[in-house]
Amino acid sequence: MPADSTFGSEFAPFIATSRATGGVFDDPVVEPVGPLPLHPASHSLHYASSCFEGLKAHKGIDGTTRIFRLDRHAERLRSSARMVRLPVPDVDLLTSMVVDTVAANLDAVPAPPSSLYLRPVLLGTERNIGAAASPSRDALLFVLASPVGAYFAGGERALSLAVETELPRSTPQLGRAKTGANYLMALGPTLDRQEQWGVDQVLFCPAGIVGETGAANFLLMDQTRIVTPALDGTFLDGVTRDSILTLARDLGLEVEERELDVDQLRAWAARPDAEAALSGTAAILAGVGTLVIDGEAVPVGTGEVGPTTTRLRAALQRVHRAEDEDRHGWMTRVGA
Ligand SMILES: *Cc1c(COP(=O)(O)O)cnc(C)c1O
Repeated sequence: MPADSTFGSEFAPFIATSRATGGVFDDPVVEPVGPLPLHPASHSLHYASSCFEGLKAHKGIDGTTRIFRLDRHAERLRSSARMVRLPVPDVDLLTSMVVDTVAANLDAVPAPPSSLYLRPVLLGTERNIGAAASPSRDALLFVLASPVGAYFAGGERALSLAVETELPRSTPQLGRAKTGANYLMALGPTLDRQEQWGVDQVLFCPAGIVGETGAANFLLMDQTRIVTPALDGTFLDGVTRDSILTLARDLGLEVEERELDVDQLRAWAARPDAEAALSGTAAILAGVGTLVIDGEAVPVGTGEVGPTTTRLRAALQRVHRAEDEDRHGWMTRVGA
């Protein structure tokens, strides 16, 4: 899907790491990126005790680098850590590791619309393959950085989504965790639908209730309103989702967070001014032009990327670049 196929495969030179022993994290170090020593019996390699975050540092039009909504991402990693029963790093540790990673890699922060993508990861490292039914009290926390281009560098195409009404994307106990296990649950059905229907992604709507795709939140809109599923614990509380809803309110749009079923989705799509979009840190806000429901391709409005989608994405990008005032205190400056 990304026009820039190198997304995530190039790395900035420095990484911050901290190890927890018996639940206590040691002082972090910043060092050159390279292979990490990991014992083959590490808990996460066998029992999937891991979670991660994805956030970005942006270079502003004034040349200063700023991290977007660091506090929210740090809180979410802590909440994911609790759900996968790993030692929970404190906010100060997480915050300083992310800031130190950006500071060490300042020369690798590209000019907008590119940015420095940051990937904090927490892995269970207790050496015990018999610990299937107990949590890992040892952990490795690191923050990897990757300079990334604009997701749609080659010009923008509206995405198509297969609407999946049976298979779930996650399980009740992990719906709100950002963990690899959820990605694995979404992978098989997504590959199957891509092969079968040529779609970009799958919108998981178990029992007919709209949730999200494998890695992004789902929103409907028109020129005066946004409708998106209310946070119900089955899907991730996206920071981009929250930011788009906040900017939409600032711009005078009506915001409705509620339960949404597939019949309502179909009815919304049939309106000529209907829009749909996916939100996430990587793509920001990506227009959806087609829903494939029971094998039938249903265009959303005109089938193109809509004006409200474009307008909201531009508004968020102006905040990223410090072109607009940071009204909500979202940006953390790094360096001078
Ligand atoms: C990371 C992620 C998102 C997007 O969250 P943001 O905070 O907006 O980047 C949405 N859904 C899932 C399942 C995710 O893992």
